[in-house]
Amino acid sequence: MDLETPLAKADRVYKMYANRLSKLGIFKLEDFLYHIPFRYDDYSLVSKINKVQPGETITVKGEVLEIKNQYARSHKTFQRARIEDDTGIIDIIWFNQPFLLNVIKKGDLVSLSGKIKKNLNKLTLESPDYEVIYGDGENIHTGRLVPVYPETRGVSSKWLRRQVYKILKNNDDKIDEFLPNFLIKNENLISLKDALWQIHFPRKIDEVEVAKNRLAFDELLLMQIEGLINKEKWNKLKSGQKLEIKKYEQKLEDYIQDLPFELTNAQKKATKEILSDLSLEKPMNRLLEGDVGSGKTVVGSIAIYLAFLNGLQSVLMAPTEILAQQHFKTLQNFLSPYGVRVSLATGSEKIKKGEKFDVLVGTHAVISPKINFKNLGLVIIDEQQRFGVEQRTIVRQKGENPHFLTMTATPIPRTVALTMYGDLDLSYLNEMPIGRKKVKTWMISEEKREGAYKWINNQIIKNKDQAFIVCPFIEESETMTTVKAATKEFDKLKKDVFPKLKVLLLHGKMKSKDKESVLKKFKEGKCDVLIATPVVEVGIDIPNATIILIETAERFGLAELHQLRGRVGRGEKQSYCLLFTESKNQKTLERLKALEQVYIGAELAEYDLKLRGPGQIYGTLQHGIPALKIANFSDFPLIKKTKVEAEKIYKKIGDYPKLVKKIKGFESHNVSPD
Ligand code: ADP
Ligand code: MG
Repeated sequence: MDLETPLAKADRVYKMYANRLSKLGIFKLEDFLYHIPFRYDDYSLVSKINKVQPGETITVKGEVLEIKNQYARSHKTFQRARIEDDTGIIDIIWFNQPFLLNVIKKGDLVSLSGKIKKNLNKLTLESPDYEVIYGDGENIHTGRLVPVYPETRGVSSKWLRRQVYKILKNNDDKIDEFLPNFLIKNENLISLKDALWQIHFPRKIDEVEVAKNRLAFDELLLMQIEGLINKEKWNKLKSGQKLEIKKYEQKLEDYIQDLPFELTNAQKKATKEILSDLSLEKPMNRLLEGDVGSGKTVVGSIAIYLAFLNGLQSVLMAPTEILAQQHFKTLQNFLSPYGVRVSLATGSEKIKKGEKFDVLVGTHAVISPKINFKNLGLVIIDEQQRFGVEQRTIVRQKGENPHFLTMTATPIPRTVALTMYGDLDLSYLNEMPIGRKKVKTWMISEEKREGAYKWINNQIIKNKDQAFIVCPFIEESETMTTVKAATKEFDKLKKDVFPKLKVLLLHGKMKSKDKESVLKKFKEGKCDVLIATPVVEVGIDIPNATIILIETAERFGLAELHQLRGRVGRGEKQSYCLLFTESKNQKTLERLKALEQVYIGAELAEYDLKLRGPGQIYGTLQHGIPALKIANFSDFPLIKKTKVEAEKIYKKIGDYPKLVKKIKGFESHNVSPD
């Protein structure tokens, strides 16, 4: 067994746990070593028993004089033990852990870490972490800085700790340095082996930082080199579909002139970038990023038109049937007048046998083997996160290395996009079409709460407006706690705040039939105020909803708040977003204030990244964004530095076989969202 051994081929325990471990991103033995502690319990103060003080967190070592179960009235048990060292005896108590008697026996030498409490004048060590010391055994659960890991059902931190230790011990001589010497020296890094030991079992807390530096460097460097390798591979493809532009310049110009609106500068720039890609020998591989409504589809349509002029077919793939239909209509509107034949293929909408088309719009039905393309030149994918690598490969094979354009509304900060999708070129729509009404956004402090409620009441009665109220953010995922809180909020608002209005509640634990009925009522104007939990996605269009009130706004990422406020402002009327916060923290208030001025999701995400670090921003947006295990997307200097080094190394990649080997296994380090 070495580090590359997949769990399915490793020891029996690992085989049994393989399923659970996959949830933690652990697929082979080496992955244990990259399962990084999220904190360390400091049990490094080892004390003699006669020196312990109440309130102290300490470790004592001694012999077990006795250990026994004690039964309490409530079916609960206590485990009581007495431990002796050469200075004295101390009482230990655990709650409800009867199995302890199988682990710790009278006469064992044990090490116990925990807090000293004073009960009835007697010092007791309460619920300590424990381990039995054998021979010369090293402590891993007590008496030191103890790593605490992300867990999953049936996989405890203690179990993980044991595996990590065992794997490190058994493979100590197999942890091979893969970074070139010059980098280790220039960047002042420690060796890989030291880094892995220190991140799991640091002797001093400072060692963690040093280890993290090294491993973060690796992570970003490998990611960047991988990007360069993939890009090069892509660049070597010959599309054979080099599009002629010069000849059609006038036609493109006319098409753009005849659009019912003027393109924004950002759209013009993106169009230029895309057209220039299309005129090259190698296929385009570009990401077009922009908020919902920033006008990505139109830009795509220009590329489709050029492909058409060159006698090539295009395909536009959308993640859902509704979106596919919407795109179908849009493209028909824009392109049919120019002789472009637009067809639709979804689960329920099949194309007819022999139907001729220039562009096929659809869900992944468009890659069904039944559909043949004559000469596919351009593939556009809307919301790429949901399409896997496989699907991309299948579409690619439907043509002769067609050009690829992916469009996304996920607010990925620019720096992050450039690192994560190193093999893609990026176009970025950082402005909205003019004339769009901005959702007026205000922060509301606790003192102004009543006033704000009054204002909402008035707006609704006066203008027949409708409002969303997003309940306090309690937890990431929707549990009964969240639902209870939402219900309470609902009762309060309905009774005390909006007694004259029709108020309804929507949460994720409702049956989908009930959800639909509530949404339908809201849409039909039979409900004035809709109270919803943060996780409830209200994707439907309700043009008459003009107010959104968000409770405990400070607990959301800015990009999330931006997406939430996107639920209003869809109609003609002026819309409002009220951010309720009880926070008095100057920094927090400043952060929220960004929403009053910035209206671009990716910029807000970038701003948040700088202020708060990545753990926080994504929250419910996490999907599809590969997790970094160690590095931070907010560590701009490190991103920059590793980029420079990656380019240097990539030029002589043949000289670094060990490093290349690391990259191949890299994919499995990305945790797929659950
Ligand atoms: P996205 O796909 O980025 O969410 P769409 O391409 O669907 O956005 O565009 C949203 C709406 O804005 C569409 O009705 C579209 O016709 C319109 N639109 C696009 N670009 C402009 C523009 N430059 N000026 C005004 N309206 C625009
Ligand atoms: Mg769109």
